[in-house]
Amino acid sequence: MKYKIAVIAGDGIGPEIVEEAIKILDVVASHTGCELEYTHVLMGGRALDETGVPLPDETVEICKASDAVLLGAVGGPKWDNLPGHLRPEAGLLGIRSALGLYANLRPATLMPALADACPLKPSVACDGIDMLIVRELTGGIYFGKRGRSVGEDGEEAFDTERYTAKEIERIARVAFKAAQRRRKKVTSVDKANVLESSRLWREVVHRVAKDFPDVELEDMLVDNAAMQIVRAPGRFDVMVTSNMFGDILSDEASMITGSIGMLPSASLGDGSRGLYEPIHGSAPDIAGQGIANPLATILSAAMLLRYSLGLEREADAVERAVAKTLDDGLRTPDIAGSSQNVKVVSTAEMGDAVAKSLKTALTAREG
Ligand code: NAD
Repeated sequence: MKYKIAVIAGDGIGPEIVEEAIKILDVVASHTGCELEYTHVLMGGRALDETGVPLPDETVEICKASDAVLLGAVGGPKWDNLPGHLRPEAGLLGIRSALGLYANLRPATLMPALADACPLKPSVACDGIDMLIVRELTGGIYFGKRGRSVGEDGEEAFDTERYTAKEIERIARVAFKAAQRRRKKVTSVDKANVLESSRLWREVVHRVAKDFPDVELEDMLVDNAAMQIVRAPGRFDVMVTSNMFGDILSDEASMITGSIGMLPSASLGDGSRGLYEPIHGSAPDIAGQGIANPLATILSAAMLLRYSLGLEREADAVERAVAKTLDDGLRTPDIAGSSQNVKVVSTAEMGDAVAKSLKTALTAREG
């Protein structure tokens, strides 16, 4: 099989971490016989500098013609004061929209080797944290009608939370399908005791659930969900929720796993093409120093293998290789903590170690 992968290295640490993820994809390619063809394209700050826009048309065309898009991160202080439509983040919103990516999948997993980095009490975290947040990405209050006016009491402003049944149905299906690959439980988070849009959300999710009888469904109000994430995170498998609730809850969930440098994400649409990126930004404060943690991007590449290329076993193997590398005591500075029993390594050394562990595992499988 031959797959086309568009690569947006981006700004700051983007090029450094993407290079390590490509190392890992190359190991998978050499052991599975599939051919990966990478096309490097511009987006974000570098695109602005070289073409005058954050998302050149050529980038959109190449991404549309690819099986998957691997992204490092975009942005940095150099471009912070530009008008909204010229900011690097406009490139990010533009590419998601151009590719019709409406589902954002963010796993929050606490790797046993990094248990010390979890800010929760060991008794709370000891059940393990392994949840997947499925956030609706293109609807809701972030895209609803908004405005400002001056009324009887002076200045006022409004934003509108609006969802169609179709938008809810398609994100619910993504969540149920994801749950079928995992522990078969979906928690649908809403505010149905107050919001009409949430009541529609709940009705539609229950309708969709009928098509997935093997998956357990529970409803949870968003305020309770925010509490349960820190009280009993081990109870969650897949959580599905709206754009704004997902934005907030996924940051809360990522915090309890300890390090921003560890967490991947996938943005998916109707087909198999997706965009895969770490949840962190371009970390301009450490760019060019060779100390960025590449594991979130490597784990994003694992999601790319799973969701866009259908290479589930290889995705599992990459995730195990990351866990093994951490078990062996290797750490980039951001996850080194204060323990004496770890070896602090560079971005490239971490990538090399994961690649070596992956090669060993895939070779053993062939044998
Ligand atoms: P950030 O995530 O880039 O950095 C926050 C802190 O975490 C920094 O101290 C950084 O050094 C550290 N960090 C982040 N990733 C790391 C890694 N892989 N290894 C080690 N340490 C890591 O957030 P920020 O500083 O708020 O934003 C910096 C720039 O990134 C801004 O221009 C912002 O707009 C942009 N940004 C881009 C994306 C994206 O491309 N999807 C997402 C968020 C922020």
